[in-house]
Amino acid sequence: MWLARLKNLALACGAFCLGAQAVLAAPLAASPNSHAASAEFRRPVAIAAEAKSDAGKTRLTFVLSAPVEARSFAIERPDRIIVDLPEVNFQLPAETGRRREGLVSSYRYGLFAPGRSRIVVELSQPALVSSVEAATRPADGAALLTIELTKTDREAFRRSAKPELPAVPDPVSTGSVASKGEDRRPLIVLDAGHGGIDPGAVASSGAFEKDIVFAFAQRLKARLEHTGRYRIAMTRDQDAFVALDERVRMARAAKADLFISIHADSISAAPHIRGSTVYTGAERATDVESERLAERENKADAVGGVEARETASEVADILQDLTMRETRGFSHRFTKRLLGALDPVMPLSKKPHREARFLVLRAPDVPSVLVELGYLSSRKDIDLLTSEAWRERSAAAMTSAIDRYFGARVAGHGAPTSP
Ligand SMILES: [Zn+2]
Repeated sequence: MWLARLKNLALACGAFCLGAQAVLAAPLAASPNSHAASAEFRRPVAIAAEAKSDAGKTRLTFVLSAPVEARSFAIERPDRIIVDLPEVNFQLPAETGRRREGLVSSYRYGLFAPGRSRIVVELSQPALVSSVEAATRPADGAALLTIELTKTDREAFRRSAKPELPAVPDPVSTGSVASKGEDRRPLIVLDAGHGGIDPGAVASSGAFEKDIVFAFAQRLKARLEHTGRYRIAMTRDQDAFVALDERVRMARAAKADLFISIHADSISAAPHIRGSTVYTGAERATDVESERLAERENKADAVGGVEARETASEVADILQDLTMRETRGFSHRFTKRLLGALDPVMPLSKKPHREARFLVLRAPDVPSVLVELGYLSSRKDIDLLTSEAWRERSAAAMTSAIDRYFGARVAGHGAPTSP
């Protein structure tokens, strides 16, 4: 039975993954390349995973279509075991890894960087990897990867944990976006929050923020492209981890005219709170909640098992300071138009424009906003956020806000005019 399932998966993946793989090699690229198909068929598929414990040990076993090499290390605060793998296509049930089992409080998995996947195991108490075993299951030839964790004490864990998180892998080349000389249409970078091993907030329905905001970003991209007035790039074109400063770097390198980061927050203690909020970057947060939200969002790199890096914009420089001030003026103007357009299609939160120190909003020269579409802790918001009709309506509303913004900003320079 396993073998039959493995074959089906390999076949089912062919067409879809051709595009996905190409985008991974160049996130801002528009067209797939033909080398991707053969690589895809070599990518092992994970079809099952389970955790079992006894006598101070917990074993985490992944069932794969082909053997993989694994490398593990520990990180403290919070205590985690990171397992690095070559690229694996995880086809696991949605609830996989969410339940506590022995030494494992939860685990997640996903694409980490081009050609690399990662499993992040959150520990319920200090534990170390005592063995990593690869075996073949005789019944069906499936490859088993077993990571055995053994309980240890705080001191021993601390000694073996990496003192610092490893840096983000080298960014992918993004040379394919047409330069301004060739195409004068404004370039908008859409940034679907989280991705890969970082699921973002989790809805009460079990849905992940990373999937909800990705579906929305794709809808918005299609809508904007349909107007023919803009060039659109995505910071991620699939379910992959992208570090925060890499998202900013992509927008700056491509000389984007607007950067829109898309998220959906959750406050489990207050399921009645709902509505959209638009955030702009600032050194000082508008209020405590915004400050906390920015802290949570800024932790995305740590969730992926890498260290958050401050961007070059940290450097105090009077010229940069002036540029930043002017850019923030544009961000505020866009926010106003965006809230005006969203108002009829989505209830707005009590204070719909807020500011906080989001790492992803730190490009000094690209007007940037972060949109929290709604709250995944609100039943009513989830119903909207996961509805195709709402996605269509709100993508249309955002498109008209973008039209107005660019119409006002650069009218008379071959740019779009107000509808
Ligand atoms: Zn988020």
